[in-house]
Amino acid sequence: MAITRKEELTQNLSDIKSRISTASLNSGRDHNQISLIVVTKTFPLSDVQILNGLGVNDFGENRDDDARTKAPEIAARWHFQGQIQSNKLKSICSWAHVIHSLDDARHFEIIQRVASHSIDIFLQVNLDGSQNRGGVVVESLYPLAEKVEEDPNHHLVGLMAVAPLGVEPNVAFSELHAIHSAFISEFPAASALSAGMSGDFETAIAHGATHVRIGSQILGSR
Ligand SMILES: *Cc1c(COP(=O)(O)O)cnc(C)c1O
Repeated sequence: MAITRKEELTQNLSDIKSRISTASLNSGRDHNQISLIVVTKTFPLSDVQILNGLGVNDFGENRDDDARTKAPEIAARWHFQGQIQSNKLKSICSWAHVIHSLDDARHFEIIQRVASHSIDIFLQVNLDGSQNRGGVVVESLYPLAEKVEEDPNHHLVGLMAVAPLGVEPNVAFSELHAIHSAFISEFPAASALSAGMSGDFETAIAHGATHVRIGSQILGSR
C-alpha cells in the first residue's frame, strides 16, 4: 500500500532527529544544543502544515516569493537563508524572525529602516573566496558585526556558512569552527553556528554547529 505524505515526512523527520542525536553523542555534545531548521523551500504549504503538526517550529526558506505566502499561515519561527536582494528585504523582514545570510552592511541599513520587529541575525561567512554561495570574507566580518551589534533593535546571534563546492565539508567546517571561536572572543553573544545541510550536517555538528538547515533529506529532492 502506498504510504501517505504524512507517513513519509514522519519517518524522514524521525530518521533525521536520530542522526542528529547520534552525531551529537559522537562529538560529546548534547543533542538539545542543536536546533533543527527544516528547509521547506519549493515545497507546498501542506507539507509545512504536516511538519508543524509533527512538532517542527523552525522553517527555512531561500526565496521571498515562495516564503511570504507560506509564513503567515503557520505560527512558527521562520528563517531566511538565501542570498539577499535589496528590493526584497522589506518583504523578507515582514515574515522572517531570523536571517542567516547577512553579508553586506548596506543590507543591514535597509533592515534597520524597514523591519518592524526584532530580527536575529547570523552573518554569512564566505569560506572559499568566490562569491558563488554568498558570504563575507573573514576580514570584513568584524566591521559588519560591530555595525549589527551597535543596533539595539536587532540581535547578532552567530555565524553561518555553506561548505564550498569541491571542498571537503570536514575541511570547510573545521575552518569555520576556528573562525567562529576567534569571533566569539570579541562577540560573545554570537555563540550560534548555523552550518550543515542534508549532505553534511553530521560533519557540521562535529565542528560545533548549533543550527542545522535540512531540506531534501526530510522533504525529498527538489
Ligand atoms: C537549500 C539550502 C539548505 C537545505 O539544503 P538540503 O541539501 O536540501 O538539506 C540549507 N541551507 C541553505 C543556505 C540552502 O540554500
